[in-house]
Amino acid sequence: MNIPQSIENMLKTLHDAGYAAYLVGGCVRDALLGLVPHDYDIATNAVPDEIIGLFGKKHCTFYGRAFGTVGVRQGGFAEITTFRTEGDYRDCRHPGVVKFADHVEEDLARRDFTCNAIAYDPRTGLLDPYHGADDLKNGILRAVGVPTARFREDALRIMRGMRFAAKFGMKPDMLTDAAMHACAYRLRQISAERVMTELCGMLTGKYIKEVLLAYPDVLGEWIPEILPCIAFSQHSTHHDHTVWEHTARAVGDAEPLLPVRMTLLLHDIAKPCCYRQDESGGHFKQHADRGAEMADSILHRLRCDNHLREQVVSLIRLHRGIPQDMPEVRRITGQIGAEGYRMLLMVLKADGGAKRSGVPESQEGIIHAEKLFQECRDRKLCCTIRELAVNGHDVAALGLQGKAIGAALHSVLEEVICDRLPNEKEAILRYLMRK
Ligand code: ATP
Ligand code: MG
Repeated sequence: MNIPQSIENMLKTLHDAGYAAYLVGGCVRDALLGLVPHDYDIATNAVPDEIIGLFGKKHCTFYGRAFGTVGVRQGGFAEITTFRTEGDYRDCRHPGVVKFADHVEEDLARRDFTCNAIAYDPRTGLLDPYHGADDLKNGILRAVGVPTARFREDALRIMRGMRFAAKFGMKPDMLTDAAMHACAYRLRQISAERVMTELCGMLTGKYIKEVLLAYPDVLGEWIPEILPCIAFSQHSTHHDHTVWEHTARAVGDAEPLLPVRMTLLLHDIAKPCCYRQDESGGHFKQHADRGAEMADSILHRLRCDNHLREQVVSLIRLHRGIPQDMPEVRRITGQIGAEGYRMLLMVLKADGGAKRSGVPESQEGIIHAEKLFQECRDRKLCCTIRELAVNGHDVAALGLQGKAIGAALHSVLEEVICDRLPNEKEAILRYLMRK
């Protein structure tokens, strides 16, 4: 394993003082997958006071006795945690008691999946009592111990498992898979923030489509609005798939940007409740507006940050059609900015591509909308009130007051966007005086 020198030095400091010390968890897994670990965890039989004594107070951050973890910054950064076992789990999430353990094997036994329960000592190599390295090689996600017991202890592990499946393309083994479904109801006792963190983590995974298709019931514990989508046939010439199949494909095909993927996850959430049928088939009038409202309430429930929630809600509201002409492009850019417009096109592209084995005319529409946007940028066209050649003071000087000022600026913007008025001060003031 390729370890940064600074981390190797920390292991050596512990070893030289007579302690056992191993790299554990995500960094070992990532290294075995050929990825560069984003953080390093060391497990040791040294207790926090001893760790701090060895590395010196000024290099250490102590996270509290209950966790037994010390952050050490010395060249690089690692979290060093005393071996522990966990006792009874009271609330599905927080271990009732944390007990320090003497041996690394006990520490590995409390970990969630075999691929995360591998320890590495540079002097002796891998210590892998659950054969996690084999499971990694074979792409199998397997709970350590009895899956139902482990997910009952801590249901967040189910969503962590979905995240690992989505990121690394691992398939849960039969018992792990069955327990993920069977214990999903326990997720209701997990905090919204933790559920949201895992959901966001899995959404940007390369293999998210497979995970969405396999575990809609698990997500349904927090987002029950998904459940009616699962088997919902669309009875439409535009669609070959059920609402959920279409959703999973669209999410999986889209760029791995969180706002884009979250938008696609929720973009058709209102379809079941907006469904109407006539001679020509199924219709979903208003599903974009209704879906935006539903997404707003779902993301509030998940304690999503305001910025992401607002982005997603706007994108869902705007996903009903591809922008066709310059005024539309300018209006949308004014509402959600250039970055938002680019994300909207990513949403529309993935949405279009996931309908009937890729509807070609919709992809042509996207290319046209991209060209219009490029032209809008090149010509530096005005899209917002801020970019107008007049401001509130100029309008007030004409004798307008209060709300009338905003209304006047809005009407000017619409004239400018539709090219009926040049964005020039004189012309705009003349227009306002005439009105
Ligand atoms: P990443 O950091 O890429 O999200 P990770 O596996 O390192 O993945 P962390 O949350 O950093 O995840 O946890 C480090 C290790 O601690 C895990 O590899 C696993 O061994 C253990 N672990 C974390 N959360 C749990 C849990 N809920 N139940 C059991 N073990 C866990
Ligand atoms: Mg980690």
